[in-house]
Amino acid sequence: MIFKKEKTNWQYIAIAVILAVLAGGAILFLRHIWMSGDLASPEPAAVHRPEPQPGINRYFINQVDVCFIPAAAAYGYALRVTSGYRSMEDQEQLFEQGRNESGRIVTWAPVGKSMHNYGYAVDVVDRRKGYGINWKRLAKIGEFCGLEQVDDSHFEYRGGLTTEQFMAGERPSRLSLSCAIMAERAKMNQPLTLRDLKDCGAPEF
Ligand SMILES: [Zn+2]
Repeated sequence: MIFKKEKTNWQYIAIAVILAVLAGGAILFLRHIWMSGDLASPEPAAVHRPEPQPGINRYFINQVDVCFIPAAAAYGYALRVTSGYRSMEDQEQLFEQGRNESGRIVTWAPVGKSMHNYGYAVDVVDRRKGYGINWKRLAKIGEFCGLEQVDDSHFEYRGGLTTEQFMAGERPSRLSLSCAIMAERAKMNQPLTLRDLKDCGAPEF
């Protein structure tokens, strides 16, 4: 004899709860796809929060903080600035390191010969991958932002001036953002997306 038991109320409630959870999950998943826009994007790095860089040219560092690092982040790089402005004293000490002082050589530039001394250079590194990253690609991203890569991790802006002109007190024209979307993203603490970069007229890097 088959005993057919009626479903009790709690069973209906349990089924309803499971269906609600599944529907909720499906909605969140679809929303995620909708919001992310570009499914082929690499996982973007966290939103860049600029650290104060005393002594550095404000238009130069704005270009680093609002264009270069966020654009690199859209390609999956998590850059951080390891060195910004260096006073002449700092440079002298750094130049001595590995020469007349112990340690390894960290700079090729004597006092006054480095753009760090004028606040027009930064060194960067990837927070997760260190120096083992595609620096050629970063050179292109830097170039888009008006920065010149001199060696792998060193980016600077001269605006056509020579070191001698810097030493004589001349300074280049102000760098400025090429695109308002970047300023908006930085202001709102939002990541810059590949779509934003496209809208800003950037090529694919
Ligand atoms: Zn440097």
